[in-house]
Amino acid sequence: MIRDLLSGRVAVVTGGTRGIGLAIVRKFLEQGAKVILFGSRPETANQTVETLLSEGTGSEVTGMSPKLSDYAEVEATMQKIIHKFGKIDILVNNAGVSARDSFYDYTENEFDKIMDLNVKAMFCCCRAVAPEMKKQGGGCIINTSSMVSLYGQPAGVGYPASKFAVNGLTKSLARELGKDQIRVNAVAPGVTKTDMVSSLPEEIMARMAASIPLGRVAEPEEIANVFLFLASDLASYVNGAVVSVDGATIC
Ligand code: NAD
Repeated sequence: MIRDLLSGRVAVVTGGTRGIGLAIVRKFLEQGAKVILFGSRPETANQTVETLLSEGTGSEVTGMSPKLSDYAEVEATMQKIIHKFGKIDILVNNAGVSARDSFYDYTENEFDKIMDLNVKAMFCCCRAVAPEMKKQGGGCIINTSSMVSLYGQPAGVGYPASKFAVNGLTKSLARELGKDQIRVNAVAPGVTKTDMVSSLPEEIMARMAASIPLGRVAEPEEIANVFLFLASDLASYVNGAVVSVDGATIC
């Protein structure tokens, strides 16, 4: 059993209330980190914290809910965290939304909504945290991409476009911030059992599972394990990587 990989570290995880984000929060807490999870609403963030505390999954967990695409609000929130915890060692940009509308029905509003959360919010969080990490002597940023960032997808164009942008942001920041000992990486999950895909009809899920060489979709914990590796000192020389965790899916 691996223990204490993140002992003494302070981690912020956006979209930490369910799915992949919640699995990351659990992993980080189990490995000794103090975690501040962000949710879209105060009620869901607080409810998640209460659940984690009642499960005994670590006592060092706090919930917050800034509007992630509002830079001033994000910066103020990060400053509050630094005031309370002294630093931020790890930032996980995981909050994301998708939509699978056909291009002929795709609205400007839908495109803006996806870009706002999947890309602009990531910029805001990185921009607010990186100067603090530089002052501290280093840090680690991990962004949630997707396997569609490698292949595109035949519907819902905003989502793959946003994830291509996530990879661009990740690789560029890795090159710019590496000199300040800030490692920036991304994880590109394949289809994972979360609310994001729960509305897909069963036969589509079954067809997708059958097309994956491992013969099944991923559990959130299997994705979170890779975040844990990247956040830990085991990944001290990993920078600018987009790590596929998709069971060798070919879209
Ligand atoms: P999910 O829908 O279960 O979780 C999404 C998270 O984002 C939630 O915690 C939610 O509170 C948060 N969120 C949504 N809208 C928000 C908003 N406006 N402001 C702040 N937070 C908001 O989905 P998930 O599958 O756990 O997705 C997590 C990440 O993984 C996303 O970036 C998604 O694109 C990516 N991903 C998921 C899959 C998959 O198959 N599930 C595959 C590849 C990548």
